[in-house]
Amino acid sequence: MKLVVQVKLLPDAATQAALRETLVLCNRAANHASRRAFTTGVKGKTSLQRVVYGEPKAMGLSAQPAIHAIRKVADAYATLKANLKAGNYGPQGSRRRAAVESTPVRLRKDAAQPFDDRCLSWQLDARTVSIWTARGRCGRIPFACSPAQLDMLTRYRRFAQLGSFITYKAQRCGVPVVHVDPAYTSKGCSACGHVDDRNRPDQATFACTSCGFAEHADVNAARNIAARGVAGWAVSHAADDAA
Ligand SMILES: [Zn+2]
Repeated sequence: MKLVVQVKLLPDAATQAALRETLVLCNRAANHASRRAFTTGVKGKTSLQRVVYGEPKAMGLSAQPAIHAIRKVADAYATLKANLKAGNYGPQGSRRRAAVESTPVRLRKDAAQPFDDRCLSWQLDARTVSIWTARGRCGRIPFACSPAQLDMLTRYRRFAQLGSFITYKAQRCGVPVVHVDPAYTSKGCSACGHVDDRNRPDQATFACTSCGFAEHADVNAARNIAARGVAGWAVSHAADDAA
């Protein structure tokens, strides 16, 4: 699921300069990665990251912005490839197509740059956000957004924090936390493993069409989750033993 919340930053002049400088630096690093992709022919997200590894960092980017700059380049080459294939730059051998194919993809110096949660921290009550920049972290930049958007942002933060709070508190108490893939836990039979949409005659009931096992749907799903947790725990400890 993707949530889109639009906010407008209201930086002072110094912060604005730092943000602009950061954007320019990110795109300079992206253009560097693009030239490397062009000369080496390596254009995949992961493979390109291996090729240009460390270079964006040497240019002054921290790890996450560097990864996003490289991904942005890989995406641009993927889009270009699709456009070439669709004939959007003319047929094979045309001058326009040849010109596009013979030069590296070039990003504008103010092209959009993705920032992830590790580069941002929100102070929602104060309506400020702290952002990583090339000049260091810019703290408490005021932002504006509609009440509905602020509400969505607040809910998302709570949801995102829930996972880390559980892990943190559990660790403090010495309780292991195993993350479990929840797919099909509500449709699968906890007795025989049979997965079928028809195992759920209604929201509350689980009734296996294969072995006849029946109980409250939530209890059956909880048994499946518990079983996967045990499997995940065994796997993660097998890794510890091997180390
Ligand atoms: Zn069954």
